[in-house]
Amino acid sequence: MKRVLSGITSVLLCVGIAVASPKGTSICKQPFKKFKNVIIMIPDGCGVGHFTLARWYKAKPLACDALNVAIVRTYGANTYITDSAPAATAFATGYKSWDKYISVLPAAGTMPGVEIPENKANGPVATVLEAVKLSGRATGLVATSTITHATPGAYAGHWYARGDEALLQKQMVYQNVDVVLGGGRKNILTPANGGTRKDNENLLDTLIMKGYSIVNDRYQLEAVNPDCQKLWGQFSMNAMGRDWDRSLDAWKDEPSLADMTRKAIEVLKYSTKGQQRGFFLMVEGSQVDWASHANEPAGVLSEYLAFDAAVEAALEFAKMDHNTLVLVLSDHDNGGLSLGSRKTDANYSSRSLDSLISPVLKSAKITGVGIESLLGANRSDPGSIRNILSTWWGINDLTDDEVGTIAVSGTGSMEYALGPILSSRTDMSWTTTGHTGNDVPLYYYGTDVPFKTIENTDVASICEKAMGVDLDVAHDLLFRKADVLFNGATLKIDTIGVRNGAGYLTVELDNKTAKLPFNKNVIIVNGKSYTMNGITVYSYNNHSVYVPFQAKCILSGIPARNCLCKK
Ligand SMILES: [Zn+2]
Repeated sequence: MKRVLSGITSVLLCVGIAVASPKGTSICKQPFKKFKNVIIMIPDGCGVGHFTLARWYKAKPLACDALNVAIVRTYGANTYITDSAPAATAFATGYKSWDKYISVLPAAGTMPGVEIPENKANGPVATVLEAVKLSGRATGLVATSTITHATPGAYAGHWYARGDEALLQKQMVYQNVDVVLGGGRKNILTPANGGTRKDNENLLDTLIMKGYSIVNDRYQLEAVNPDCQKLWGQFSMNAMGRDWDRSLDAWKDEPSLADMTRKAIEVLKYSTKGQQRGFFLMVEGSQVDWASHANEPAGVLSEYLAFDAAVEAALEFAKMDHNTLVLVLSDHDNGGLSLGSRKTDANYSSRSLDSLISPVLKSAKITGVGIESLLGANRSDPGSIRNILSTWWGINDLTDDEVGTIAVSGTGSMEYALGPILSSRTDMSWTTTGHTGNDVPLYYYGTDVPFKTIENTDVASICEKAMGVDLDVAHDLLFRKADVLFNGATLKIDTIGVRNGAGYLTVELDNKTAKLPFNKNVIIVNGKSYTMNGITVYSYNNHSVYVPFQAKCILSGIPARNCLCKK
């Protein structure tokens, strides 16, 4: 859907400040409070059942329970069941998009009401993070997945395949996000340095050159000076470990999501930009989703409760700061988790909490991923399987069939065998190992405006209005089609290695030659390098290149600072 504000919300969000539209007219008549800071927190893959299960397990209120609540519709541009990439695109840009798309739009949508504006079809669209950056604020991204996974990736990147994380990593590095904390170190390193970058660019060197403080474990994170201005930590080569598994040697040096959230807020708050203008921070509890795909309740509880602690940390700051909007919402439900199952059909009205939570779930000390790491090569030994499941999950009645299922489970996916085994010993049940099309709750702190039932695209509008920025204006500044912007020039597009992050545009105009490497905020004119306020993005769909308007100024010899707001 085009950046649809559902009717009621459009009135409520746009309070009182005259927010300028791209055409300079006032689009809002009613007062809406502006905030210095916005923190959006996303427990990926959580439906209502996840919150309910976590609350019963915790045996006290969740951090978000005291907040205001609304309901969010999650469907994408081409399906009623969204994946994370279009869902995050909706949050970040205000547009519903196509499966696998990271803050780029398709030619058209197929779901009812979804309209893609002609001038934005098949290309990148500005994100809240980019608009906020242009406004001079500090920005941060925190996740427990690789930091270039779909959700954080969609705030800092633009591409057609969420799996091309090397490309998205380069975009994130050149977006100058002030604080980046998560997993996926392999994506900033070349093979010679233990990484996987096929374009052979060592992005760690780039980060050091850009002045980032680099941290690699929880001790370094804790010790880093809050006054460091720019902080970068990728704490694992791939995704980070599950929270409960940090008690095992393999993950003991990783920080928790709450540790990362607290430090991110601290650094952003003390940064010069943060003090002067405020900050925008996205925090994702990435792996509630993965445990839900596996229907694995210990993983769900580990990851949701870690997220809950992070929400508590964010709210602690917001309550002291009095100028921060906190949004807590999932991108979609996953697994169709229900409290109740076929075995409660006849007696649901008399089931006790013991049949849901205790002793089965309370006996699990680590997640299915942790169990797999402990079993290692011993997966074919029934004795080891029974022993580990007894010690770490308190399960002493495994059937021979269950032992067999665990023994033959694939490397890296044992939790898919373990999840149903644990779930079947409780009253809970799952309808799918995929996402569902259910609505999700939005919890929010900082305003009492009733958001009611909104679209996921409205989340971008809430951030936009709360921070007083304009996504259309940002789009206009950041994504000009190169053949139109450089009218009359000779353009050459090199797409060799484009999915690995390589490729560039060459522009020849008036005896000048400019080279714009894809995914970087850099333009090189006659051999001299200049920094732009946004990145160059290649559009796979229409073989076009999109560049910041500043590129034209720089090529024309006009200082970039003098052409910020001109067409
Ligand atoms: Zn997701």
